[in-house]
Formats: sequence, C-alpha cells, structure tokens
Amino acid sequence: MSVWTEIQRQISQIQGKDFAIATRNSVGGGSINQAYQVSDGQEHYFVKLNQASKVAMFEAEAEGLKAMQASRSIRVPKPIGWGAAEGQSYIILEWIPLGHGDSQAWFAMGQQLAAMHRQAHDQGFGWHQNNTIGDTPQRNPWTENWGEFFAEHRIGYQLQLAQRHGGHFRQGDALVDKIPALLTHPVASSLVHGDLWSGNAAFSQAGEPIILDPATYYGDREVDLAMTELFGGFPPAFYRGYQAAWPLAEGYQQRKTLYNLYHILNHFNLFGGGYASQAQGMIEQVLTMC
Ligand code: ADP
Repeated sequence: MSVWTEIQRQISQIQGKDFAIATRNSVGGGSINQAYQVSDGQEHYFVKLNQASKVAMFEAEAEGLKAMQASRSIRVPKPIGWGAAEGQSYIILEWIPLGHGDSQAWFAMGQQLAAMHRQAHDQGFGWHQNNTIGDTPQRNPWTENWGEFFAEHRIGYQLQLAQRHGGHFRQGDALVDKIPALLTHPVASSLVHGDLWSGNAAFSQAGEPIILDPATYYGDREVDLAMTELFGGFPPAFYRGYQAAWPLAEGYQQRKTLYNLYHILNHFNLFGGGYASQAQGMIEQVLTMC
C-alpha cells in the first residue's frame, strides 16, 4: 500500500468518513522532513514524511504533542496519526492556518509557556520514551537529580556523538564532571518543549500562540528560555509575559550558556563546520564559572 493510501485510510478511520486526497501541496520551512498540506476539498491536514526507519521519531513527536495538549496551556497541532508504509514513515497533524503575532500575542506566548512549565512529573526528569532533537537521538531515562540528568544524557551524550564524528573538545569530560555542581539551584520538574527556537513558534490567524515540532521531556524550564535566545531570538514581549507568569530564578544568565551548549553540540553533530569552535568557546566559558 502506498504511503498516501495508508494516510487516507488512517484519516478516514479517525474522521469516521471517507477521506480522499484531492490536493497535496508542499510546505516549506521544515528542517528534516518533507512537509505537505493535504485536503479533500473540505478538511485539511498537515503531513510530514521521512524514511521508514524514522517511524519512532514520529511516534515520539505525536506523544510529545499529546502531553503538551493535555496540559491545556498552549496550543499545539493535534496529532491525528503516524505510521509507516512502503519504505516511508509519516505523521499526520491537524492543519492550522498560520498568521502573525503582535506584541500582545508574544506576551501571551510567554505566559502560556510558563503555564505549560507548571506541569511536573513525580519521577523527576526524563520522559517515558526516548525521542530526537533534530535528527539526533535524545535519551530520556527517568532521573531524580537534574544535574546528573543534564550531565549524562544531554552534554555527555552529545560529546560522545561528537567523538564519533571526529570532534574532540578540550575539557569536555572535565565539564561533564562539573555539571552537577553547576546546577544546584532549586529545579522543578517541568514539561518542556525541548527545541524551542523561533522556527518552532508560530501564531494562528487569530494571533493565538502555537508551538510546533517538540523534543518533549521533563526538565528545567530554563532550557526552553535559553533556547529562545539562540537562532533568531524571540521579541521582548515574550520574556515580559513569561516573567509576569513565573519569574526566572537568579543565576539563569550563567546557566543559559551551559543549556545552549547542548544545542550547539547537536548542531556540530548534525552540520559540523563552525559549530565546533562555538561549542569549544562555550565549554571554556562555562568552566570559568566553576
Ligand atoms: P520539520 O519537522 O521538518 O522541522 P516542522 O514541523 O517544523 O517540520 O514544520 C515545517 C513548517 O511547516 C513550520 O515551520 C510551519 O511553518 C509549518 N507547519 C508546521 N506544522 C503545521 C501545522 N500543523 N499546520 C500548518 N502549518 C504547519
């Protein structure tokens, strides 16, 4: 069965009526998957495709979206289904016509993200399954201590991958050893988006905040705030909204570099190039804080 036949079948089953694709349009802007809008002329859906081996990635994306949706805090596209057929894997999401956000809408996004971060898990930090960050595996075993989790499963893991890619970072191991001592601030377990750069923040046509394409887990909420400052940045109204709802703790500015090192190491692992010297500089900067 072709992947499109399977997608039609799954949508028909969920809608409880026949769905036959009448139009299929490519959607740009994604980084790792092919994205489409499909429609039967009435209902519209957002579909992403990748090779069959990526089915677990789509399953984890659907699970993450479900958890975020269940928090009733900020809008995410509703996951409709996922699967694999004929050498391809797919995820089907609710189609949301996107618009723009004014500063009030960005303020609301900050407030709503803070509300999502209020969701805690009694097992601490991690997630009930592994997922991916971009195209890279992300390990999420439940861990009581945040510093240990971030040292081993975030920075340590990316440094191991880097080594396999020929990246040898000076003082990388020393940094991993010191991370638990750097992260001794009071940390709540928070449901985080996990990959919150500007390309994954959007607004509906009514200006309602939406977050897309998560790498969900329970972690320190500061990881999401830190990432919003990378790769484009969010406008000041977003931070005003967040701080109004749940002010950040002292020391965030120092921890931010450590948290963003994870994404820069991941970019080195995905794209190589100049990210190596950026990561090395960040490792040295964080070590000066010890
Ligand atoms: P990728 O996983 O390949 O990075 P994204 O999930 O980021 O792809 O989606 C790519 C782009 O498609 C987004 O930047 C956004 O503009 C648009 N998009 C994503 N989800 C939806 C949706 N549910 N409805 C409409 N457009 C969407």
